[in-house]
Amino acid sequence: MPELPEVETVRRGLNDVTLQQPIEGGDVLLDRTIAHPFSAPNFLAGLQGTAIVQWHRRGKYLLAELIKAEGRRQEAEGRRQEAEGRSSRISALSSRPIAASPSGTYSLLPTPHSLPPHSSGWLGVHLRMTGQLLWVDQTTPLEKHARVRLFFGDGKELRFVDQRTFGQMWWVPPEHEPEQIITGLQQLGPEPFSEEFSVAYFTRQLQRRRPIKNALLDQAIVAGIGNIYADEALFLSGIHPQTLCIHLKQSQIEQLRSNIAQVLQASIEARGTTFRSFRSVAGVNGNYGGSAWVYGRDGDLCRNCETAIERLRMAGRSAHFCPMCQKLKAKG
Ligand SMILES: [Zn+2]
Repeated sequence: MPELPEVETVRRGLNDVTLQQPIEGGDVLLDRTIAHPFSAPNFLAGLQGTAIVQWHRRGKYLLAELIKAEGRRQEAEGRRQEAEGRSSRISALSSRPIAASPSGTYSLLPTPHSLPPHSSGWLGVHLRMTGQLLWVDQTTPLEKHARVRLFFGDGKELRFVDQRTFGQMWWVPPEHEPEQIITGLQQLGPEPFSEEFSVAYFTRQLQRRRPIKNALLDQAIVAGIGNIYADEALFLSGIHPQTLCIHLKQSQIEQLRSNIAQVLQASIEARGTTFRSFRSVAGVNGNYGGSAWVYGRDGDLCRNCETAIERLRMAGRSAHFCPMCQKLKAKG
């Protein structure tokens, strides 16, 4: 399943190839992929004649900011002329949590008032388990699991391929905020690279008798972390996945928080983990998987102490850990 680094990798790839080109039409091959509006023709009608200004990410959601394609030139001109307004727009953006990111290149949703006057709303995408976004020529033969096609100028196409069919797409009309239509956004906690994900915040969220692994998978505590990076961050912090949150020392919480950011950053730099179904937008597999500490390595030797990595079931998911480096300490 694509996690934050994979989605971030896809976002960057989309920003390289899809911007500022008119969406001329499309084809919905599987109606239930479209989560909003409630009919495929309305979805396509909303997108037709728009162009993507920029792709943003919130948790594992991808959100493309849309403007009217014919308004693009005036929009660019307007931005040049309104240097004053433009700089206030940028400062509104930079006051968002992206300032805390290690590379400064993460793009979260802009504040509502920063939308341009020619806004045509948003295109939202969630890849879920097996979704892929491919940038192809329209003449490229259709994949068996192709679900939605968006036709751009010059014969290009953004194609959504999804074997398991859990992936979703939304068109958010300009009169709505993305959170009103893509309701899953409302439940997301802070981004792991944001200032909001502070030690104080994280500590408050961990005042409960539940295993730390389950807390890390809870998107309301911190957005975008899934099974792989939860296991990896716990290993790096020497914390057993079944450790109850309330048993964590302050120093462990601080270490875990910083290791979460570190492991996500390492994976983004490696362009996402290798998955059966995940491909970045150009169709290139990422390569974090080969360097995992514990994830998917049960039975293999720990890279730190050469003890066999173990796996257990927690909350319906597999947890991978080293029984020597991550001892479950009985306390309280
Ligand atoms: Zn070990």
